[in-house]
Amino acid sequence: MTDFNIDVLIIGGGPAGLMSALQASNKGVSVAIVDRNKFLGRKLKLTGKGRCNITNAETNLNTLVDAYANGKFLFSAFSQFNNIDLMNFFEKNKIKLKVERGNRVFPISDSSQDIINFFKQELSKNKVSILNEEKVEKINTENNKIISVVTSKRLIIPKNVIICTGGKSYPITGSDGNLNEEIINLGHTIIKQLPALVPLETLENTNHLKGLALKNVEVSIKEKDKKISKHFGEVMFTHFGLSGPAVLLLSRDVVLKLEKRHQLTVSIDLKPALTFEQLENRLLRDFEENKNKDIKTYAKELVPKSLINEFVHRSLQANKKINSITKEERHNIIHVLKNFDFTVSKSLPFEYAIITQGGVNLDEVDQKTMQSKLIQNLYFAGEVLNFDGKTGGYNLQACWTTGFVAGNSAAN
Ligand SMILES: Cc1cc2nc3c(=O)[nH]c(=O)nc-3n(C[C@H](O)[C@H](O)[C@H](O)COP(=O)(O)OP(=O)(O)OC[C@H]3O[C@@H](n4cnc5c(N)ncnc54)[C@H](O)[C@@H]3O)c2cc1C
Repeated sequence: MTDFNIDVLIIGGGPAGLMSALQASNKGVSVAIVDRNKFLGRKLKLTGKGRCNITNAETNLNTLVDAYANGKFLFSAFSQFNNIDLMNFFEKNKIKLKVERGNRVFPISDSSQDIINFFKQELSKNKVSILNEEKVEKINTENNKIISVVTSKRLIIPKNVIICTGGKSYPITGSDGNLNEEIINLGHTIIKQLPALVPLETLENTNHLKGLALKNVEVSIKEKDKKISKHFGEVMFTHFGLSGPAVLLLSRDVVLKLEKRHQLTVSIDLKPALTFEQLENRLLRDFEENKNKDIKTYAKELVPKSLINEFVHRSLQANKKINSITKEERHNIIHVLKNFDFTVSKSLPFEYAIITQGGVNLDEVDQKTMQSKLIQNLYFAGEVLNFDGKTGGYNLQACWTTGFVAGNSAAN
């Protein structure tokens, strides 16, 4: 074991760690990144299906902050380095960007590797030490100050430390919460980490609906028949339950509620643009025109083909002639169209969750500097902190931003 002295030690070489390292090294101090993986940016490489949705082009700061749970914590950091600054930063460094649907920003090359290569090149120019395949195992303190860090290969004596170890999602990428115990030993609290942006398992068998995508529907959590936390968009059926963008967005709240209860209803409104009355008027008109058809034949006007059997079973139990449908049954049809309900048993585990909710308690971190309020020479950045964002580039942005701020502060 050899001693290694460094001004700023960064634990974790994901987007937060890379940005911290660049910022700190730009200020002329000596910087090292230690990461247990063979390569930097292992999770970053997977982002946006390899295309890297690096940020969101939202221009309103309040809307940007609203895209996060605990987004208020990020206000001050965004005033130092926000999504527009990030886009300018990449463009200035000759990484051309493009904006797609929903203000999602990607490198024009559609390659996350280009982003990783850019950081590797800049860090090499700034002589940042990259300690790959090296795991931090222990952080030693004296009088509320880190005095040394023990890795699987050596003892490091850092002036300042930035923890950028991410959450617990996709643990195969090296982010699995393994440093939590050390963070707690430092005196910090960790708000329980749970999966977010994650598919949901239902008690109902959905195997027969596997592959069906419902576009432009509204999906919500239902409590005592009251709809809360709704999202509009696309729902996908899988062999185990529900997925798709609108379900992923809803999943954060579902997982939190499942923590407290055993079962929860997720409700799909198949006709969100129509009120009960508007739907009733449409059915009355259509039923009059199709009175001699049976409901299964007519139902293709209302729902996708693969949903017809399930829809008829839920609303009328069995197929029947339209002219024999009672008012009560018609109301039931409308109810089913507006409340296509599923009972959620659980979410898929961290292995399938895009991000992690929970993390280091934000009350213990200075939002202007990302400095620990408990340990003088400690900083945090990225998903290890207790905030999480929607899909659309927001999660990476929070990592770039907090990394930038932590890197700057730790180098001062
Ligand atoms: C499949 C997938 C796609 C995604 N796509 C997008 C997207 O397009 N846009 C978006 O905004 N977000 C996306 N995300 C989320 C985004 O990737 C994460 O929020 C982000 O990577 C978190 O960055 P981070 O630097 O905080 O941590 P991470 O990227 O998780 O990096 C943490 C690093 O710390 C290292 N580490 C952990 N413990 C130790 C230790 N003890 N010693 C040494 N090293 C350690 C790990 O090896 C890891 O490399 C996606 C996530 C996934 C899983």
